[in-house]
Formats: sequence, C-alpha cells, structure tokens
Amino acid sequence: SKTVELAKLDKKHLLHPATNPKALIDNGPPIIFAKGKGVTVTSTDDVEYIDGMSMLWNVNLGHGNQELADAGNSQLSTLAYASSFKGFSNEPSILLAEKLAELAPGDLNSVFYTSGGSESNDTAIKLARFYWELKGKSEKRKIIALTNAYHGVTIGAQTATGLAAYHKFASSNIDGVVRATAHLLNSELGDKSDPNYADSIRGTIEREGAETIAGIIIEPVQGAGGVNIPPEGYLEAVRKICDEHNILFMADEVICGFGRTGKMFGVNNWNVVPDMMSIAKGITSGYSQLGGVMMNDEIRETIANFDAVIPHGFTYSGHPTACAIGLKNIEILERDNIIDHVNEMEKELKKGLDYLAEKHIIVTNCRVIGLLAAFELYEDPTSGKLFDPTVFPANAVVDACFERQLILRALGANNQIVAIAPPLIINKEEIEKMIQIIDDSITAFKNTRN
Ligand code: PLP
Repeated sequence: SKTVELAKLDKKHLLHPATNPKALIDNGPPIIFAKGKGVTVTSTDDVEYIDGMSMLWNVNLGHGNQELADAGNSQLSTLAYASSFKGFSNEPSILLAEKLAELAPGDLNSVFYTSGGSESNDTAIKLARFYWELKGKSEKRKIIALTNAYHGVTIGAQTATGLAAYHKFASSNIDGVVRATAHLLNSELGDKSDPNYADSIRGTIEREGAETIAGIIIEPVQGAGGVNIPPEGYLEAVRKICDEHNILFMADEVICGFGRTGKMFGVNNWNVVPDMMSIAKGITSGYSQLGGVMMNDEIRETIANFDAVIPHGFTYSGHPTACAIGLKNIEILERDNIIDHVNEMEKELKKGLDYLAEKHIIVTNCRVIGLLAAFELYEDPTSGKLFDPTVFPANAVVDACFERQLILRALGANNQIVAIAPPLIINKEEIEKMIQIIDDSITAFKNTRN
C-alpha cells in the first residue's frame, strides 16, 4: 500500500525531531498524516483522529480552514516572498505589525519577525542584551529562566529551556543563563524564611547581582513543562521584581498567544505588561511558519537610535505569505469571537476533567485555562505515590487514546502528565467525545495493571 511504501522511505531518509530514532527504525512512523478538517486529521490509511493537541499547540483555528488557505494562495500568487533586509518591506508584514501593536498589551508596539518560537527567543535574548549595551550597561547580560520552562531548541532558547534532557543533548548551551525555580510565590514576595528563597527569582537576583541581569524569560503558562499555571499574584510579583531591579520581563507567548488561554495573550489573564514578548505558533494557526519578538516603546526607541546595521535577522523575517496568513488568522479570531468561544469551551473541558477525576482515583491535579489543559496520573494521589517510572503511565494512556483515534501528549519528568490543547474551534460534542475516549483509555490502562 501507499502507507507501507511511504513508511519505508520515511525510515530510510528522515530523521524526525523529538523522536526516538531507534524506535522509529524498528516500528516506522505511527501515522502518516494525509489531510485535516476542523478538529480532525486523517491518515494515509483513511483513519480519522481527533487532534486533541492542535498538533503542537498551534493549529488554533483547526485544520482545512479555507479562508487561511485562500489568504496564503492569494499572497503566494501576488508576491510569495520578499526580503526585509536593508529596510526592504512589504504590505502584509507592515499591516500585521500594526495589528499586533493594536492587540498587544501596554506599549508593545513593535515587532521583529522570525520564522518560529525558538528563533524568537534567541532574538529576544540578543535584543535584551543589545538594549542594555546601548544603555551603557553591557554587564547586564544574564538571562534568568525557570525550572520546567520550554523555550525551544536553538542554542540560546535551548539553554533557557529548563528540562534536563535538552541540556544533555550535544552539550550545546550558551553562557549567561541562570536557573530559578518556577512559581514560588512567597519567596517572590520577599519572604526570606521561605525554604526555597535561595532558588527563587529574588534569591537568584540577590546572588547574581541585579547589575548582571538583562531579563527574565517566562511562559505565562508553562506548556511542554507540564501545563503549569502560575499561582495568583505570581506574575505580578515577578513584574514588581523586574521594576525594582531594572530587569526586562520577557514573556514567551509562543503557546499562550492568540487565544489559547481564553485571552488574546497569556499575560492578559493577569495584571502584567511584559517588556518583550515572543510570539509564534497560533499567530498563523500553523498555516505558515511565523514568529516574532514584540517590544515596548522604550526598547524600540533605544534600538532605533543605533546608527549602524543590526547584524541580526532571518531570510524569512517578515515573510509576506506568512504575514498574510497571520493577518487573516487574527481577522477570523476577532470576527468569529473565537476567544469567547474558548471561554465557553473551557467550562466543558473542566467539566470533563472533573468527571474523569471523580471516576478514576488515579486521575488528579486537573487544570484548565482556556483550551490549555492537563491532568496527572498517580498510583495513589492521596499519598502522592507516583507510578513506578518503568510504567510510563502518561505514555500508556496517550497510546490507548491514539488506538481510539484521539491524539494527546504525555509530559512530565515522571511521565505522569497528559496534556490536552485542542483547536480553539472545538465544540461541546467534540469535547465530550474526547473525554469519552480518555475515560475508556484510562480504564484500559487500569485493566493492564490488574
Ligand atoms: N516557546 C514555547 C513556549 C514553546 O512551546 C515552543 C514550542 O513548542 C517554542 C518556544 C519553540 O518554538 P518553535 O518550535 O517554533 O521553535
């Protein structure tokens, strides 16, 4: 069959990202996607799956959206690509920049375009350091990044990533990234008696010296680190620390941006305005590769006064087709009140997870913000006993879901977290179907253990 032929070629010629290459050689790709419509994708074998992860948290308007395709096609046949170097410009990139400035919080009125999230975070790190150099404070160059953070895999972004496996990979790290523990509210409020104070952002700044720190990079809600929603008051406390110490607040909105959390941006869930913001993924719903770093007027004006070429930028910075799709994507988000819909569907997803937690003792720590959600699997949640690591409980449940034609993702250092992030256009019936499949999959997992 076509699938068998393609699988053979895949095994021979492809090295997949974030994949165990040995397992792939043994088993071949678990699926070869052929097409998609709404919240579903169909394999080359004609099996239809619910895409419970919006692929990689990015296909926010769902698959097969004709308007996005038309916007891309129209731009492709008008001016597919144009350089943005040496001040060359193009209409979609200008109009999208204006739209982003309108949507972004505070005075984040400018954007530097990239082609994805990792490039955005590397760019944010460079621009933060450059900003302080221009302010005559070139010793301010360290970046504080948090435990369990995921910022991407280019070398700067990877160093900022707080998941151990990434740091081991090919020993590729940059200098000047310091780690602080995520979400320690009392220590961030200045409580030095808190046992975690030394590892908190405050403690880290005290140890390193504020005069050495350029910025703090934070996902408003951590994604790949386990869908970790910060406690109330946390991001405000971080904003306050940044203000006290003249440190840039760099929000990584790559997953959270464009409606995923029930607001346009993740930070809009709290009362904070960052100084810089990395965006990607949901800006085009994955219909084209686009990212960017937004910055406030102070940073923009400081950099704009630099009277020499800035030696940074990508071939695809300001890509007209990607920007045209981004513009259409935002137009649809607003026109169709997608964010209101996300907030309605958040309630349904919450209801579903509550039902699972009630029915299955092993399900715990359910969390939902917008359509970004997770639950955890513990052998005994009451005593906090995890499953034996050799069980890989989240993989087992995610695999059981896949057999039942639902795509989810396993996360967590103990493989205990199952993430759910469906397209923002999902409806109530589709959420119920998803919950039913998870319910059956957890039952199947429990049966294998009896
Ligand atoms: N930042 C966050 C929060 C992400 O979730 C991701 C990707 O998952 C990235 C950055 C990296 O983005 P990309 O894979 O487009 O380079």
